[in-house]
Amino acid sequence: MSQTIKDNSNEFAIELDNQDELKDYRSKFHLPQHQGNDVIYLVGNSLGLQPKSAVDFVAKELESWKLNGVEGHFIGENPWYSYHEWFKNPVARLVGAKPHEVVVMNNLTVNLHLMMISFYKPKGFRKKILVEKGAFPSDYYAVESQIKLHGGNPDIDMIELETDKNNIVTTAEIQRQIEDIGDELALILLGGVNYYTGQAFNMKAITQTGHKVGANVGFDLAHAAGNIMLELHDWNVDFAVWCTYKYLNSGPGGTSGAFIHEQHASNPNLNRLAGWWGHDSDTRFQMKKGFNPSYGADGWQLSNAQILPMAVHRASIEIFDEVGMDKLRSKSIRLTNYMSDILMDKVNQNELNCKIITPPESEDRGAQLSLSFDGIGKELFNRITLRGIVADWREPNVIRVAAVPLYNSFIDVWNFVDIITEEYTIIRS
Ligand SMILES: *Cc1c(COP(=O)(O)O)cnc(C)c1O
Repeated sequence: MSQTIKDNSNEFAIELDNQDELKDYRSKFHLPQHQGNDVIYLVGNSLGLQPKSAVDFVAKELESWKLNGVEGHFIGENPWYSYHEWFKNPVARLVGAKPHEVVVMNNLTVNLHLMMISFYKPKGFRKKILVEKGAFPSDYYAVESQIKLHGGNPDIDMIELETDKNNIVTTAEIQRQIEDIGDELALILLGGVNYYTGQAFNMKAITQTGHKVGANVGFDLAHAAGNIMLELHDWNVDFAVWCTYKYLNSGPGGTSGAFIHEQHASNPNLNRLAGWWGHDSDTRFQMKKGFNPSYGADGWQLSNAQILPMAVHRASIEIFDEVGMDKLRSKSIRLTNYMSDILMDKVNQNELNCKIITPPESEDRGAQLSLSFDGIGKELFNRITLRGIVADWREPNVIRVAAVPLYNSFIDVWNFVDIITEEYTIIRS
């Protein structure tokens, strides 16, 4: 539940920052500048900021390449042969998994396809895939093409969740729709947090209901990894994928992560697209035919690891692992509730007419709020951009803002609300 705001003053925001035990982490990131000041960066949900340490991590691997050439695979501080293995423990902590259930590889949409090759197995009447209404376009295209790959018709086999007019849907309603599709449902593929509305889905309940009707259940965690608490293992999720450049600050087009539940770790009945890096690492260099997958998520790798993007990811994951998701999430809830409270305060005082389409309870959302402003959203967005706020506009009608706990402050949030209210008043006057 949202705290009631006792004080909407600038001084109170500063006091909240002073009390914030994570406040020093902001200085570990590069903030773009606007007219000599830090921008108010509220798009960590789109491209997270650069950790200042990233350059050293990348430089180290370039140096090893320079000094060692191909030998860098086996010598140097972080031999590339096993570079990806470093991620297992900290990434498992990040998403609530066992170390052998996670792997860092490829890019998000590629991993989504690899997972659907294994977990979308249409058979008889059971061939439908349930997706979000208003899913991210790449997810729609991946699902459509997977259905076609199996000879199906996406217009029939891809089912979109029914939602209210703001694209929000309750857990009970999702469960009802899953049960309605029943034994025709082959796969549920939802976001952990929807990119447009900011709604966080109850993955535990959805997985339970999905399994009850006999479907596999996977999540696209692009907007959830590094944002909300995840317990993928305990929730019995079959698979999950995520990108690392949004909340996880690992650079444009950065590498991606995948989770495969250990109950599938060595399941020979799953289809896989295989490559040499997924082969059992003890015999990988015997270079023989006959694919023998590594145990667990490692067995889904195709290619040798992309060391340079992984070096950036490592810089960021070290920070996440030092802070821990508990503390991050706890600050995130306070920051986002604070934003919602002071926005609503402006609305109540008739200084702003804004609707927050993101659900109001913390358990139903992450850092992001999606704001709609009857018809003037785009103009307002353009005006706040000129004032040094970095937010984003998503067609048809939403300004998305995410105050992220690693580098955003309460005063960032206060300034954002102050500026958007000023610009709103100017447009309306
Ligand atoms: C950001 C995002 C993507 C982007 O996919 P890439 O393969 O990383 O380009 C896909 N799906 C969702 C849900 C996203 O939020």
